[in-house]
Amino acid sequence: MHKGLKMQPIPVSGPSITQKEIDYVNDAVKNAWYADANLYNLKFENAFKNYIGSRYAVALPSCTSAIHLALVALGIGPGDEVIVPDVTWIASAAPINYVGANPVFADIDEKTWCISKESFEKCITPKTKALIVVDLYGGMPDMDGIREVASKNNIIIIEDAAEAIGSEYKGKKAGSFGEIGVFSFHGSKTITTGEGGMLVTNREDFYNRILIARDHGRDPQDSRMFWNIEIGYKYKMSSMQAALGLAQLERIDELVGKKRQIFKWYRNRLLKMDGILNINYEDDTILNSFWMITAIIDPALNITKDTLIKEFKNNNISCRPFFYPLSSLPAYFSALSEAATKNVNSYKISPYGINLPSGFNVDENTVNYVCDSFSSIVNRYSK
Ligand SMILES: *Cc1c(COP(=O)(O)O)cnc(C)c1O
Repeated sequence: MHKGLKMQPIPVSGPSITQKEIDYVNDAVKNAWYADANLYNLKFENAFKNYIGSRYAVALPSCTSAIHLALVALGIGPGDEVIVPDVTWIASAAPINYVGANPVFADIDEKTWCISKESFEKCITPKTKALIVVDLYGGMPDMDGIREVASKNNIIIIEDAAEAIGSEYKGKKAGSFGEIGVFSFHGSKTITTGEGGMLVTNREDFYNRILIARDHGRDPQDSRMFWNIEIGYKYKMSSMQAALGLAQLERIDELVGKKRQIFKWYRNRLLKMDGILNINYEDDTILNSFWMITAIIDPALNITKDTLIKEFKNNNISCRPFFYPLSSLPAYFSALSEAATKNVNSYKISPYGINLPSGFNVDENTVNYVCDSFSSIVNRYSK
């Protein structure tokens, strides 16, 4: 009997909540009303823009709403194309459809698992208006190359850094590489507000557009109450969530440090194991915040992610499948079957990738148990 069978199931993700978070939320629920109703939102936004190094930050109910507002602010609509990597969470792409534009799915790079510069370039047409670049699992793409192609072709970049708070590329923070950057504070992410998101930009015009669009078309500069200049959205973060986010952000170095420690424990074990093709990528130009520790099994072994996840579950370990190519999902399949032949890396890697337990409750013993289970599963199946 594995000792794991007696334990609580090991979750794949989860936050780190301390007394600080509880104190801040308590204070918000007691005091953030009347004249102070917006206090925690302002504090959280200020701290966030200082951390990223951007001029403006807007706290929102989710990262999905942040991407939606970014596309609205950029004026993207029917007839426009927006390029997005084929392998990401659907929230990167769905808002393109919300505004009536068409997503175009580009392939990912074999090492970084982020959009490949070459594939991005091949997807450009006269209709291309924007690129949504995704920092997958905390990893960073070839930002210099991608930015060069984008600027040569007049394409605006939105950086989806939902999974990458604390990551860096050449010393610059994830989320600061596009005209607009967006983050998620979903409960599984590196910092959480329960549900929540943030949009950052240096562009005053985008910032002003977003403030109006996210508040039912009311201009914050206009003193008339209930005066709507356009049909907008209701995308606001509550002060209790902002208080939680502020407490989390004040611990960001500790939290990113813990993610990096978890990765080191895994790396020491995984690199010695047979049958692992690769794990999260980092080099001299990248600081990876390792949101999810991820391993790709050698396709030659013929063990798919579904098999692995089932076997891990038998050992009381929760894993997640590497994201499916969006072009392979029922939500997108019919329109875009062509991507399946074009996006070779996406279709090659995705069936063999899994996310291993990467929550803040993971310690070295957990990592050892997960890796022992992993080895024995791989050994059993490769016989
Ligand atoms: C989590 C996630 C989102 C969406 O975040 P929500 O806050 O849940 O809307 C968007 N993009 C990526 C890459 C994500 O991982």
